Formats: sequence, C-alpha cells, structure tokens
Amino acid sequence: MEHPSLEQIWQAILGEAELTISKANFTTWFKNSFISSYENNVLTIGVPNGFTRAWFETKFSQEIVHIFNKITGEKPTDIKYIIKLKPQQTASITNFLTAENQKSTDSALTTNHQPIKTAPEPKLTANQQIGLVAGLNPRYTFETFVVGKHNELAHAACWAAVRQPGETYNPLFIYGGVGLGKTHLLQAIGHELIKSGKKVLYVTSEKFTNDYVEAVYHGRGNTFKSLYRNVDLLLIDDIQFMAGKDGTQQEFFHTFDQLHRANKQIVITSDRPPRSMKAVEARLITRFEWGMVADISQPDLETRMAILNTKCQQKQFPLDQSVVQYIATNINNNVRELEGALNRIMGFCQFHNCSPDIAVAQQVLKDFFISIQTSNLSTPQKILEAVANFYNINVTELTGQSRKRELVGPRQIAMYLLRTKINASFPAIGQELGGRDHTTAMYACAKIEADLKTNSQLKQDLEQIAQAITSTY
Ligand code: ADP
Ligand code: MG
Repeated sequence: MEHPSLEQIWQAILGEAELTISKANFTTWFKNSFISSYENNVLTIGVPNGFTRAWFETKFSQEIVHIFNKITGEKPTDIKYIIKLKPQQTASITNFLTAENQKSTDSALTTNHQPIKTAPEPKLTANQQIGLVAGLNPRYTFETFVVGKHNELAHAACWAAVRQPGETYNPLFIYGGVGLGKTHLLQAIGHELIKSGKKVLYVTSEKFTNDYVEAVYHGRGNTFKSLYRNVDLLLIDDIQFMAGKDGTQQEFFHTFDQLHRANKQIVITSDRPPRSMKAVEARLITRFEWGMVADISQPDLETRMAILNTKCQQKQFPLDQSVVQYIATNINNNVRELEGALNRIMGFCQFHNCSPDIAVAQQVLKDFFISIQTSNLSTPQKILEAVANFYNINVTELTGQSRKRELVGPRQIAMYLLRTKINASFPAIGQELGGRDHTTAMYACAKIEADLKTNSQLKQDLEQIAQAITSTY
C-alpha cells in the first residue's frame, strides 16, 4: 500500500475531530488548516491565524499527535504551528493576512491592529439619542460571563472581535437556543469596544426592521442610512426575525456590505445556523458564513453550578452548594431559568426573613420545576408551532389544504416529528394535520426517513426544530 499523503492524513485527523466537535466549531477552526510538513519527527501545522493557533495549541495538540500516530505509526516529538494560508486558498483570501501576522510569532490574541480608516467619519451624537449606547444592559459584560465547554469558542471568538474588530472574523455569527447567553455575549463585545472609543450600535433585528419601516414611511431613508452605516461595530440580535421581511433584508444587505467594506465589525446572533434560516435571501446567508460561525450549546452541570454561584455572588446572596446543585440539576437547558429559580428563592427568603436552605429551596421551587418540565414536554401543538415557526409559515397554512411546495415539505416534517417525538399513531397524525388520511402520514414519515439518509441539511434543520420544541420561551 502507498503511504498516505500529508493531505490524506490531515483529512483523517479532521474526520476524527469532526466526531467530537460540534459542526460549527469544526468548520470554524479546522477548515483552513493543514499539515505543512513532517520532518525529523516535527509535525508542522499551518493555520489561518494566530487565534486558531492558540486554540489548537491549548486544545488539540495531543489529539493530533495521537491520531497522526494511529494513522502513520510515526510518533511526532514536537508539534509546531505556523500561520500560513492553505496553498490553494492563497489567491482568494490573501488580504486577510497582514505582513505582520504572517511573520509574527505572538498569538493574534495579544496583538491589536486597528482597521484602516477609509474616510473621516461624521460625529454620531444623534445616534446616542436613539439609544445605541444606552441600549446595552450594564450587567452583560465579559466579567459576569461564565465560560464553560458549551460556549468557550463563541466566547473566544467574541474576544477576537474585540481585539481586532473588523479584521479577524467579520462577520461573527453566533447561534444557539433560547436563554443560553447570546445576547449577553453580544453586548459584552459592545461594552468592550465602547471603552476603546468605538461607535457601537446594538439593535435587535426587530428594531432594525421597525426603524427601517418608519424611516421609509417618513421619508427619512438617509437618516436611517447614516445611523446604521457609520458605526464601528454593529450588533444585530436575533437575526432570525428578519425572515420573510424582504425590504428590510435588502436594506440590511446594503448596510452589511458598506460596513464590511470599511472593515467595520459586524456581529450577529441567531437561534439557528445560517443555512437553516428560511425566508432569508441567499446572498445574506452567504455573507453570514464569510467570517466565523460559532455555536453555543447547553451548559453541563458543573457550568450551570458555576453560573449560579456567579449570580449569587453578584446578588450578594450566598447559597449552600447543596442548594446550588439542587437547582442546577433540575434546570438543564436554559440559563435564564437558572436565574429565575435563584430570584424566586431570594424573594421568598427576603419576604419571610429566612435562610435559603435545601428545605426552603425544595418548597419554593417545586412548582417552578414542574411548570418548566410541563412546558418542556412536547405536545402536538408545540411540534406544529415549532415547525411552522422554523419555516416561517403559520400553523393554519401547515395544516391547511394547499399543496404548495413550500408547505408540503414542512407538513411532511411535522408528520415525521409527531411520529418520532411523541409516537403519535398514523391516523392521529393525519388528524392533527388537517384531517388527512393515515396513508398520507405513513408516506410522509417514510419519505423523511429516507431523505434524512442523504440530506444533511435536512438533518440539521430537524435538530434545530427538535431543540426549539423542548426549549421554553
Ligand atoms: P439568549 O440571548 O441566548 O436567549 P441571554 O444572553 O439573554 O440568552 O441570557 C439569558 C440570561 O442568562 C441572562 O441573564 C444572562 O446574563 C444569563 N447567562 C447566560 N449565559 C451565561 C453565562 N455563561 N454566564 C453568566 N450568565 C449567563
Ligand atoms: Mg437574546
């Protein structure tokens, strides 16, 4: 057998890595890296920037050596990283690398280049009245943010955006379920860059939409443009709500391009990855993937406890670790609910002037946990709503009689989920979906099951919908 090439070995290493790392992180960190050489037992890995290198060094070196050894039988004694573009990509993204970080051996995390200013910018005093700076929650800073496995890459990426705004990852796209810290992280970037004198604008995509609609209505398009296109940092929260709003998307597209061309940092959050966005222009989705896409998943028990402890400290309300553990064990997929539980105990103890021991916690939180669990239970209605919401249609359309393509697909998916999530019978599924025949339900389930084998996008979409079904709003 021929020796595998370095490229083949690297592909194998990536293959293994892919099994243990979430898709978004995988794409972010590994896609532009490669084995540059293997000489004298020294393995040299090319990475696109210092930030990726830092991540590899601290997180993945051992793993690489291990897999390399498994594949080749060779045992590297040293592993080095160089910042270098993957050969075939040199042409398309050369401008990404400055001469400085090509030769630099410092981590990009510690260098601080400023983007090249393209033109003198007008003062933005007017903006402040529209609440751009005031729009930030003072509590949502990096200092109060607890980093765990579930969010460490998103967190690191946000820091990279702070250190080199507009340069390293532009745009930065962060996605994850409800109450997992997206808004907190997004605003933390804002706070940091305000400190260094940058013009920061934070808006939800709904606010962007409203501002735009109002500007058009009152003939103030130019004011709108000068507000949104003259910032150093644009933070757009919950971009998924721009789905289906064509005019707003068009405006956002131009805003995005203008800022991006001027090396202004754009950070976007969403409840789903770019490709799972429905009713969003393809050219926007492409742009969302230009920079870095990072996900936030659900925190593990230790992290949930750490978050609770941090919140207790901030509120100066110490809790026994048994109580912390009790709460963190019962709430496992939403940080906002952790805080909710803590607030309940705090309120109760202040009111009754008692101390928060485990008995009090159990008494106070019993109903709270039951209500969370019930709201997490999947019901046919929740499944239909989640599917409709995901595809940006309404439940009436989903269960209606129209056979339009954009409805038939989601309808089949709803049937499949009713079957797999709550084990509904085929006649019951037909009934839920507007009184259809049970054979229609059978066909739909078989079809989706078959499609899932070859269609990875569908698989991803289904995971997103499943997550939405079990998360509380
Ligand atoms: P999302 O925008 O993802 O729905 P938020 O950013 O609003 O979630 O977070 C919900 C609440 O949980 C906020 O009060 C936030 O401060 C808190 N929170 C989430 N993740 C963390 C974390 N890692 N450390 C500290 N607080 C967190
Ligand atoms: Mg949010």
